[in-house]
Amino acid sequence: MSQYKMYIDGKFCEAEGGARLESINPATEEKIASFPKASVADLERAITAARRAYDEGEWPKMCLSERGQYLTRIAHLIRESAYELSRIETLDTGKTSKQTTFIDIPVAANAYEYFAGAAGEVKGETLNIPAPAASYTLREPVGVVGAITPWNYPFLMAAWKIASSIILGNTVVFKPSREASLSSLELAKILEKCELPKGVVNIVTGEGATLGDALASSVSIDMLTFTGSTEVGRSVMKAAASNLKKLTLELGGKSPNIVLADCDLETAANGSLCAIFMNQGQMCVAGSRLIVEEKIYDKFLELLVTKTRKLKIGDPLDPATDIGPLISAKQKKSVLDYIAIGKKEARLVAGGGVPAALNKGYFVEPTIFADVKNGSRIAQEEIFGPVLCVLKAKDADEAVRIANDTDYGLAAMVWTKDVTRATAVSRALRCGTVWVNTFGGFYNEAPFGGYKQSGFGRELGKEGLLEYTQTKHVNVDLTPGGKTLVASWFNV
Ligand code: NAD
Repeated sequence: MSQYKMYIDGKFCEAEGGARLESINPATEEKIASFPKASVADLERAITAARRAYDEGEWPKMCLSERGQYLTRIAHLIRESAYELSRIETLDTGKTSKQTTFIDIPVAANAYEYFAGAAGEVKGETLNIPAPAASYTLREPVGVVGAITPWNYPFLMAAWKIASSIILGNTVVFKPSREASLSSLELAKILEKCELPKGVVNIVTGEGATLGDALASSVSIDMLTFTGSTEVGRSVMKAAASNLKKLTLELGGKSPNIVLADCDLETAANGSLCAIFMNQGQMCVAGSRLIVEEKIYDKFLELLVTKTRKLKIGDPLDPATDIGPLISAKQKKSVLDYIAIGKKEARLVAGGGVPAALNKGYFVEPTIFADVKNGSRIAQEEIFGPVLCVLKAKDADEAVRIANDTDYGLAAMVWTKDVTRATAVSRALRCGTVWVNTFGGFYNEAPFGGYKQSGFGRELGKEGLLEYTQTKHVNVDLTPGGKTLVASWFNV
C-alpha cells in the first residue's frame, strides 16, 4: 500500500498525531493507499504558510512571465508521468482509463500550459475622467485562495483552480475530496520537483466537512473557490460570510438534453449516451433529463436502449471498458435508492440494478427511465450516477419550458440540423453553457459556470481568470502647479 504525505510550506508532512485515512479502489474494494487525515491545526499551518508566501514572499511580486515558466514546467512534468498519473486516478476513483488517459491528465497539463501564457489578457484600463488626472485601473491578485474540489474530476479540477489562481500571483490552500486525494498528492511531488516557492500551493487532505468548513470560515483567507454539491455550497456560502471573503460556487446540475425531430438520430443518440454515461454519469453537466420531440420519441428511445445494452461494464483499467464503478459504496447506495424511486415514478427500460457478474466493486448498470414526468423526484434531483430520465415534448417550445423548469442551470444540449432553431433554443435556455449537436466541450478559452442554484462565478476563460483578481483604481492628480482642487476645499 502506498503511503502518501501532505504538502505544506514546501514540505511533505504527516498530519498531527500521525492520523491517516485509506483510499479504496472502487472496482475491487481493496485498500490501495493511505494519506494524512489533517486536523484543523494542520489546516491552519497551511493557511499560515500561504499567507506568508503572499504577504512576504516573492511570488506575487514576480513578473507574469516568470510565474508562467513554473506553470509550463508543471505541464511538462505532468506529461512526463502521464501514464502513471492516469493509472493512479483510475485506481483511486474508478474512472475508466479511457477517461483518465484521454481527458483528465492531458487536459490538466494543457490548463497549466494555457494559463501560463493567457494571463497577459488580464489587464487594467486607462480611464477618460473629467478631471486633470491620470486615471487607470490595476487588476491585482485577491491574496490567499482556499480551493475545495469534489471527487469526480480530481486532477483536472485542481489544475483549473491552481493554474488560474497562482499565475496571477495568488497563493493557495487546496483541499481535495476525501474520496479522491491521491492525484493531488502526486501533483505535490511535481510542484516540489519544479521548485515552486514554498507556501505558494499547500495541499491538505482529510475529512471534507471538518476541513472544508474550517477553510470556508477562516478569516485568514481572502477568497474561496468551491466546486461541489448545491447543498454543501449553501453551507460554504454561510461560512464564507465570516470575513466576507470573495466566493465562487460551481455546484450541481440536472442538465436538459433536447433532441428535436430534425436531428441526425444516430449522432444525437451517441452524443446523448456520452452525455449521461460518461464517467458513470458522475458529471455536474450530465445530460440527465433527455427531452425528446414527440414525433421521434419511440424511435429514439429504442435506438438509445439498444445502444445502452451494448456498453461494456467492468474493470476500469481495461481500455475497452465503457462504464467503470461509482466512486464509493455510499454513492452506489444513493444511486440504487434513486433507481428504486424511479421504478415507482416512471417506466424502466434499461438497466436498473447491479450487473450480475460484478458483485465486488461499486458497479451500477447504465439505467434508463422512459415517460418520466418533469415534476418527479428522479427528474428534479441530481442523482450523480448512470441514470437517464427520458421525457416527451410536443415541440421545441415545450421542450424549452421543461428544460428550464428546474432549480439548476449549469448546462444544456440541443440536437437539430436547423441552425435558426438551435440559436433560438440556446437563447431561451437559462443555463451557463449550451452545447449544440455536441456535449462536454470544455476549453481553456471558454468560461464555464452556473445560473440559478448551479452557482455563480466562472471557471476558465478570461472570465475565470478575472475571478482571481480584484480591481484597484489609481488616480494621479495632474493639476498644473500641483494646485489640486481638494487642497482648497477647506478655506483654512
Ligand atoms: P460535496 O459537495 O459533497 O463535496 C465537495 C467538496 O466539499 C469535497 O471536497 C468535500 O470534502 C467538501 N465538503 C464537504 N462538506 C463540506 C462543508 N461542510 N464545508 C466545506 N466543504 C465541505 O460534492 P461531491 O459529492 O464531492 O461531488 C459531487 C457534486 O459536485 C455534485 O453535486 C456535482 O454536480 C458537483 N460538481 C459541480 C461541478 C461544477 O463545475 N459545477 C463540477 C463537478 C462536480
